[in-house]
This record gives sequence, structure tokens and C-alpha cells, in this order.
Amino acid sequence: MRTPDLTPTPRTGTLQCGATAHPTDPPCPTPATWHIAWSLTGSDTVFTLACPGHMTDLAEQYDYADRHPATITCDMPGTGWLINHPDSRCVIAATDQDPR
Ligand SMILES: [Zn+2]
Ligand SMILES: [Zn+2]
Repeated sequence: MRTPDLTPTPRTGTLQCGATAHPTDPPCPTPATWHIAWSLTGSDTVFTLACPGHMTDLAEQYDYADRHPATITCDMPGTGWLINHPDSRCVIAATDQDPR
């Protein structure tokens, strides 16, 4: 059985920037300070952890749905994006509840 790699970077206690200009580029070495949600509608939500430099680059090139400062919770599997403008954040979602 093949499963997606949900932890592409080792957990070192720092949030790793997940932005790269090309998929084959090596991982960005800068710690992430922003958590970006590209879409918060439907089931195809995609999030990116980004360092300050990549946040600027991405914001210039793309339109994101929401963002908030990255916390350690953002890097946990199974978290839900709590939409609460302007203070959205990631919360650990209970498995028997709708994370939204
Ligand atoms: Zn980066
Ligand atoms: Zn987050």
C-alpha cells in the first residue's frame, strides 16, 4: 500500500519552509514563519509553510485564501484550519467532529 509522505522534512522542533520554486529544488533551509491556506472551500485544501522571503514571493505570484503566523500546531498532522478573521489559527481537530 502506498501512502503519501506526510512528513517530508524531519521534525527538528523548527517549522520548515515548504516552498520551493520547482518541485525538484532542495528544501528551503529557512524556518517557516507563515502558514498559508490556498483554498479553504471544499475538500481539496492545500496549505504551505513558508519563511518570510517565500511568503513575500508567493504573495506576489499567487492569491491565498488565508494565512497566519506559523505555530508548532500547524505542523501537526490532522489539524484543522480555524477560520476566524483576522486571527485564524490551526487547531487539533477531534476525529469524531467536523474540523470545520
Ligand atoms: Zn523558504
Ligand atoms: Zn496553521
